[in-house]
Amino acid sequence: MPHRARLTVDLAALDRNFRTLSAVAAGAEVAPVVKADGYGLGAARVSRRLWESGARSFFVARLDEGEALRKDLGETRPARIFVLDGLVPGTAERVRRSDLIPILADPGQVEAARQAGPQLAVGLHVDTGMNRQGLSPDDLVGIARGGSAGLKPVLLMSHLGSATLPGDPRNALQLARFREARSWLPDLPASLAASAGTFLGPEWRFDMVRPGVSLFGGGPFERPDPRIEAVATLDAPVLYVRTVEAGEWLGYGSGLRMARSTRIAVVAAGYADGLLRRGGGRAEAWFAGARRPVRIINMDLLAIEIGETPAKPGDRVELMGPNLLVDDLAAATDTVAHECLVRLSTRARRSYVRS
Ligand SMILES: *Cc1c(COP(=O)(O)O)cnc(C)c1O
Repeated sequence: MPHRARLTVDLAALDRNFRTLSAVAAGAEVAPVVKADGYGLGAARVSRRLWESGARSFFVARLDEGEALRKDLGETRPARIFVLDGLVPGTAERVRRSDLIPILADPGQVEAARQAGPQLAVGLHVDTGMNRQGLSPDDLVGIARGGSAGLKPVLLMSHLGSATLPGDPRNALQLARFREARSWLPDLPASLAASAGTFLGPEWRFDMVRPGVSLFGGGPFERPDPRIEAVATLDAPVLYVRTVEAGEWLGYGSGLRMARSTRIAVVAAGYADGLLRRGGGRAEAWFAGARRPVRIINMDLLAIEIGETPAKPGDRVELMGPNLLVDDLAAATDTVAHECLVRLSTRARRSYVRS
């Protein structure tokens, strides 16, 4: 048993989440988003497993992520790899060599793609209201009216800014704008939804959905969802069991003074293992069949309150996993499941199981 935090990735649970999303998508292609090293879980391993599940299109953010993914999938697993950053000027040869599909996201990129030659397959990102990246409706009309010379578009996509809030009026506005954009390029396969959008309803799903976080265990609406299974488990061993007497302090600073004698287990995990420091006093951990308050999170150590429960060095404490969902951890640390997941790719040792 290693004396350090351990991140276990359950590839069978990943497969079940892919199947769940495929069932919800009801015929739309499910194209996993495996950017940022597969949300911290290891892009190579999760992508190969998802390919076995049936995925044939993948999305990454950066060009080098796409190059690495092409190598990881290898010649035996042909797949389309879309690059969300688009075509950074000067990189067309690299895109071609790894057979990647850049999603053009501003007029300069359209120009760069034209100059890169006629056979470069591209996606078109139209901005429908996130105002972060994407072509304007006017740019798109220009391409539709014969301006696509030198381009070989294979996908029209956009991205929702408020899909985790189903009642937000921006969703309907973005949907209407996307439908209009689509009417100009009606032959192109279309994609609007990420994890949350996939669950909003049939009109959001078009030809392809692009889930990331819900494949990896995050509920689509930023809270635990019974349809989605935990994929990553972070656990770490107890190093010391101690009692902090009434009137004594715990850890740094003067803030945490014990009102009564308190038994704690000190665990070999901290913010250097990807937990957020601000989870101290708010997050919970799973130990001996129950949730326990996490009192402090330091760089290498954290302390949980264990009452009278027997504990000894080497006992494992679950910090995130099936008993303590990534959405619970996100809520306790004021963030989203995405951030909790990507942070875990630091010191914790990763291993893979097919439960
Ligand atoms: C990250 C990303 C996704 C996946 O989002 P999730 O919320 O993780 O499902 C889909 N599309 C785009 C454009 C993205 O940037």
